[in-house]
Amino acid sequence: MANTRHGAVESGEIRETVTHSPYRGTMERRIDPSIVDVTPPRRHDGRVVRVSSDYARLRKLDHLLVGEDDARVAVAVVCETVGVPIPRLKFHARRSPFTGACEAPRGRVSDGLTVVGDVTAPTGSSHSEHGAIRLGRSVTLMTLAHELGHHIVNHLDHPRTPSHGKVWVGRFDEAAAVIDGMVGTDPT
Ligand SMILES: [Zn+2]
Repeated sequence: MANTRHGAVESGEIRETVTHSPYRGTMERRIDPSIVDVTPPRRHDGRVVRVSSDYARLRKLDHLLVGEDDARVAVAVVCETVGVPIPRLKFHARRSPFTGACEAPRGRVSDGLTVVGDVTAPTGSSHSEHGAIRLGRSVTLMTLAHELGHHIVNHLDHPRTPSHGKVWVGRFDEAAAVIDGMVGTDPT
């Protein structure tokens, strides 16, 4: 089952499914998380609590854990729904389920106030065309939504948008809403 889903992402099937009716496509894609009881405090939680449109949803997603295959499906559906390219995903065995990292797309890699150009730029050349997200081999859905929030900002918002400001919280919520819609009613 997991391999079939992975294959679907690789073959671009999700792109086709979701293009015509984003929300219907989202509803048709299910992910099957397991529950994690204890979660660590988060550095940016103060602002997220104040600004999020649905903080309870974010907390719920932090207790739901998925592996690589479900993470790939969730990323693909969020990107298609929001209308941004799918980032390269890099899974690391030693990264905790509660941390991730987002790399800007090649054309948006910035050096101070200067946006560095494309492949010819020395500091940009190692970056993925559409950006990348680093995750643990298992990851909570809140962490996934957090990093997708950065990815969406990188593609749709101003280059100087603060990393963990209000705009990002809005994108975090946007990603979380799509992911929440993919979770079955009783995850086990
Ligand atoms: Zn962050």
